[in-house]
Amino acid sequence: MIVMKFGGTSVQDAAALRNASQIVMKNLTRRPLVVLSACAGVTTELLSMAEEAASGSATGSRLRISELRRRHGMIALELFGVSGSHDCIERFREDEEALKRIIDGIAVLGEIPPRILDQVASYGELWSTFLFAKLLGEHGVPAKWLDIRQVMTTDDNFSQASPLLDTVKEKAQEVVKPSAEGGLTVITQGYIGATRDGRTTTLGRGGSDYSAAILGAALGAEEIQIWTDVDGILTADPSIIEAARPIERMSFLEASELAYFGARVLHPSTILPAIKSNIPVRVLNSKKPASVGTLIQNNGTNGQNGVVKSITYKEGITVVTVQSTRMLLAHGFLARVFAIFERYKKSIDVVATSEVGISITVDRNDHIEAIASELQEFAEVRVEQGKAVVCVVGEGMKRTKGIAGRVFCTLGDADVNVELISHGGSDINLTFVIDESQIELAVEKLHSEFFQHSGSQHARRPSAEKHPSP
Ligand code: ADP
Ligand code: ASP
Ligand code: MG
Repeated sequence: MIVMKFGGTSVQDAAALRNASQIVMKNLTRRPLVVLSACAGVTTELLSMAEEAASGSATGSRLRISELRRRHGMIALELFGVSGSHDCIERFREDEEALKRIIDGIAVLGEIPPRILDQVASYGELWSTFLFAKLLGEHGVPAKWLDIRQVMTTDDNFSQASPLLDTVKEKAQEVVKPSAEGGLTVITQGYIGATRDGRTTTLGRGGSDYSAAILGAALGAEEIQIWTDVDGILTADPSIIEAARPIERMSFLEASELAYFGARVLHPSTILPAIKSNIPVRVLNSKKPASVGTLIQNNGTNGQNGVVKSITYKEGITVVTVQSTRMLLAHGFLARVFAIFERYKKSIDVVATSEVGISITVDRNDHIEAIASELQEFAEVRVEQGKAVVCVVGEGMKRTKGIAGRVFCTLGDADVNVELISHGGSDINLTFVIDESQIELAVEKLHSEFFQHSGSQHARRPSAEKHPSP
């Protein structure tokens, strides 16, 4: 079997749903499990109207819920006609009422308990999958709508819940497998799950990719397909680099590095379940189903591209610099610094150390003041916000001469100031920190240096980059 995950834009309206259903129908012999996101923008809208209600009044949010119900109702009408859409319309009305009751409660409370927020957010995926399962049924495909909360058991870290993988595997084998083997196409939700005692959770924004990978691994799928709105993973974010082009193949490690350092096309946790089960992941364009997309697998290099595969970036980075003359030759200093970040469950992205100090980047500002004040007990601390991490990704970089030289010459020529560098921690990335305002400039110049010079990665400084001998 295969897992086919469609993102928000791939199911955003009646035309997109029809198109996605055609893609699924062409793959029925591969026994697809279909995992869907909410229609584009719906999760954001649900979260934002809950926030609006928390400011004390439910009036605006109630109207926004009605609007969401109308949007889904219109899709149902377009797909199934007046007589065929009764069940959908009825379901959407019931959900509208349920959501309005939740929203009224939020307005009274004046705040949103995290578990309530997840409950609100879950409706987007429930609605899109409901429409899609019916659509496949209308085409005569034996299809089954599954509430994934029966399978995707998670911890209770609402909004960022972690699936309990052994339980998910057991339940997927018990609930999904028999249906798939019995010839049913199962349609289910990405992004959402439930605690052991049945409370709705979500896996974090963009989490449907992760759901697809977890289910693929749990079921031993032969392939996990991520259908999105671009031609696969590209050499850079196409929203800032027009000339970005698709990468045909890449390794699991390269893809996870890219996802972790900001390439929104894949949720950062997606690749891990695939690596563990060695299941290839394909990123494909639902608007151009015939194009090859990107194949991510264990040995992902085809020698077609140079060593550098892609350039990615993450905004909103904070750099914490901790300096202490006592650090000089003192053992235990780094452990003490990291222990403080650990206590606040802050994950660290990039680290650079010197004899008298350490710089650390984090990508969210929660707890940063508390962390800084604990660090101040034994060191000088500087916190700088508004930074960005840029990551040049490609397997073999550490063993290839000249890449760092080209990266930093390019940035120097463009007047981009590099504030912190991390290289060599792995063989596949060179990461550095710059000011957020220089992201576009930096990525554009690097992209041009590595991908747009006379079709070769070696054009600009031909003598600089010397590949390792095989
Ligand atoms: P979906 O809704 O299908 O999950 P997302 O919006 O989450 O889609 O991810 C796809 C988007 O990721 C693309 O439209 C593109 O703008 C953005 N993106 C950022 N970096 C990259 C990259 N390196 N390759 C491809 N897409 C990228
Ligand atoms: N619908 C969720 C979101 O917008 C999950 C996803 O699309 O992957 O974050
Ligand atoms: Mg996504």
